[in-house]
Amino acid sequence: MKVPFLDLKAQYRAIKEEVDTAILTVVENTAFAGGPFVKAFEDDFAQFCGTKHCVGVSSGTSALWLALNAVGIGKGDEVITAANTFIATAEAISFCSAKPVFVDVDEQTYNMDPWSLEAAITHRTKAVIPVHLFGQMADMDAIMKIARKYNLYVIEDASQAHGAEYQGKRAGSIGDIGCFSFYPGKNLGAYGEAGGIVTNNDEWAEKMRIFRDHGQSKKYYHDIVGWNARMDGIQGGVLSVKLKYLEKWTEMRRRNAALYNELLADDERFITPTEAEYGKHVYHIYAIRSKERDQLIRELAEKEVFCGIHYPVPLHLQQAYYFLGYREGVFPVAERCAAEYLSLPMFAELSEKQIHHVVKSLQLLAEPEAVISA
Ligand SMILES: *Cc1c(COP(=O)(O)O)cnc(C)c1O
Repeated sequence: MKVPFLDLKAQYRAIKEEVDTAILTVVENTAFAGGPFVKAFEDDFAQFCGTKHCVGVSSGTSALWLALNAVGIGKGDEVITAANTFIATAEAISFCSAKPVFVDVDEQTYNMDPWSLEAAITHRTKAVIPVHLFGQMADMDAIMKIARKYNLYVIEDASQAHGAEYQGKRAGSIGDIGCFSFYPGKNLGAYGEAGGIVTNNDEWAEKMRIFRDHGQSKKYYHDIVGWNARMDGIQGGVLSVKLKYLEKWTEMRRRNAALYNELLADDERFITPTEAEYGKHVYHIYAIRSKERDQLIRELAEKEVFCGIHYPVPLHLQQAYYFLGYREGVFPVAERCAAEYLSLPMFAELSEKQIHHVVKSLQLLAEPEAVISA
């Protein structure tokens, strides 16, 4: 049985008519760059997140960059984020001419460890970017408390956490600004590149709206030096359709995760994900840990069970950030996890049969003595 890591075609088949109509409507209205279809999605997504504003942009990466810009991050500033995120989080900091400062993560949630955050704060620290990795929110109460104590802005990287919750509040709505990616493979994915920024702050929202459109508040009257970071009209149309299904898809992902957890529960060769009691995990990625990860991923692929690694090298050990001076051993949890993470196939339409097959294949291939201890 072939099990893909992700099956976007299955999702498309389920909503084909609606999506096709939405795309055609944008084309018929030739509302390609920004425009009414983006605006309609922004209103829906702000409501979904429980925030006052949503600004639709060209990608999750630009969302992060615009958010940091809006709160005034610049040269000489330090911004703290987790070592085990996708590189875009750090790139956004670098492109504000600020310095990314990495911290280690909690071994249960794989998210920013609040103690490490506080220890990394200097007089140059201006902001912190908690990343809600794999679809589970970071410990926002602890992070917000530290941020307020030291006067830091909090920009949530919610690119993997659409609809995730922390004590009933949705991802993106707790920090000063929340950033989302709508990259096709994300839990809410566009049919191309797109991103979104949510906030309750009127001034920042307006600044980001102007910035994403060449700094103009009126056509050809440029108040600030901005950029082109607009969302495509087609993406707005597609995302509005897909947003209606997101809660249903999230429940399907959670059901799939629960079955994986159940089938792997007594197998000491693997560590399964932990859902913190404070929130709701949306399982963008279902990552287990194994001592034999590299061998397993290869052998599973030979049997047409396709897995992934998120991510094999933590940011502090990436060539691109060598100049920051971090060396192996400084963030033991992030490093150990990067060596052991194995992302199993995960998407809403994954069948019970496929999940049983993935687990059976995994257990057949794993060495009996490869027990893992956290
Ligand atoms: C996907 C992702 C991004 C970047 O989003 P793009 O839309 O691909 O630019 C940023 N941060 C995290 C954690 C992501 O997973």
